[in-house]
Amino acid sequence: MNTNRASGWRRDGRSRLIIFEKTATIEFMKKRFYIGIDVGGTKIAAGLVSPQGAILLRNKTATPRKSQPKKTVEVIADAAAELIEEAGLGKNDIAGIGIGIPGLVDTRKGRVIVTPNMNLSGINLSQKLKKRLKTKIFLGNDVNVGLLGEKWKGAAKKAHDVVGLFLGTGLGGGIIVRDRLVTGFQGAAAEIGHMIVDPRGPRCTCGNKGCLEAYVGRWAIERDIRTELARKKKTSFTDFFRGKKRIKSKTLRQALKKKDPLVTAVMEKAARMLGLACVSLRHIFDPEVIVLGGGVIEACSDFILPYVKKAVARDPFFSHLKDCRVVASKLEDDAIILGGAALAQQELGREPAEEKFPSLILKGAKSIFIGTKEYDEDIYIRVDGKVKKRNRNLAMKKYGTLLKLGSVELKKVCKKKPQILVIGTGTRGLLRLTPDAKAYLKKQGITVKILSTSKAVMFYNLLRDKKKSLFLHLA
Ligand SMILES: [Zn+2]
Repeated sequence: MNTNRASGWRRDGRSRLIIFEKTATIEFMKKRFYIGIDVGGTKIAAGLVSPQGAILLRNKTATPRKSQPKKTVEVIADAAAELIEEAGLGKNDIAGIGIGIPGLVDTRKGRVIVTPNMNLSGINLSQKLKKRLKTKIFLGNDVNVGLLGEKWKGAAKKAHDVVGLFLGTGLGGGIIVRDRLVTGFQGAAAEIGHMIVDPRGPRCTCGNKGCLEAYVGRWAIERDIRTELARKKKTSFTDFFRGKKRIKSKTLRQALKKKDPLVTAVMEKAARMLGLACVSLRHIFDPEVIVLGGGVIEACSDFILPYVKKAVARDPFFSHLKDCRVVASKLEDDAIILGGAALAQQELGREPAEEKFPSLILKGAKSIFIGTKEYDEDIYIRVDGKVKKRNRNLAMKKYGTLLKLGSVELKKVCKKKPQILVIGTGTRGLLRLTPDAKAYLKKQGITVKILSTSKAVMFYNLLRDKKKSLFLHLA
């Protein structure tokens, strides 16, 4: 949205309303929503996101792992197109699409450089998707995008400087400095897992020796458990660890819960290493929050987090400064979808908005989503953002129809006095204000905007930082 134009209208008040409306219908009412896509090794999850960060619709498709890149691109495009269609929107209603890719990404050119676990390496994904979806496409590394999601709506909400460590099979990292992701010269920054902590250490998957990941990644934890097993160290989990089957995070959690000595010792070593890494990172970035996430953390945060917190808290260098919070990630599967939307907003020069007002999305003529909740009868939203169902009896008793809106009902809608009241009159525009309702609004000095319900929804969504109310007739 072009906020300058909108605020110009706000300053000038009512007289500019007509000008605003004309241009708004053409330009500003469009492009109100974002799509975030999490391209994973097993699934592709997409969500339609409001500017305030509500996921309004979502879908999930299996990643076509064994087919040509063309097919994968198609599946990603289909996921976005389906959301747009299902929401009853057009391509013009989407301001931008942000995508998290598991690999190295050239964020400027929109090209995937390498994806080890899928077949998108070398593909200019942005260009291909743009051709089909006709909107702006922004790519990012999945861990980076997920951290942006956590900063917007999750564990690092309201923080401006954030470091994220995501402990799964490997160790992914993300760094946010003054609200922006640090991506480096060619998109390869923030690979915290490959910081070398001991040049004589174990070999890492990247080819170097002694990377942090080679101590704390799930594969490294598994390696250490097997080494200890070979040394005939005692464990009650021998059955679980027999054979070549992967040791899952869930198994680690069970073993920790049962205080298995072998697993506890291995995990303690990893947790201490992670704590030391956070101390070092704090010295470089001075973050307000350190977010720990990923499969191993989700399963074992009770065990790991205290070690990291302790290491960070007892750093003497920071004893005179404010604390750095160490927290577990919150958004799980939604992190990358929300982060994708946040990335698109940032790249378009808009700061991701806070949820001041609910964002609405109309589904067909008779149903509306407010946040994640669906309503299929007349509703109103008061100036404080509270959503209320219309009391049908009031209108039926007095007028014998729901198509009349009188002053008694309006007084409820306009409680706490809005500056502007938007009224949606239904698909065919049949709802009417009674004379006493009009007189009431005039007396109160409330500007009223009467539109068909679909236009009223768009208009309401568009009004920012304004004392606004909405009444919607759904039919
Ligand atoms: Zn490495």
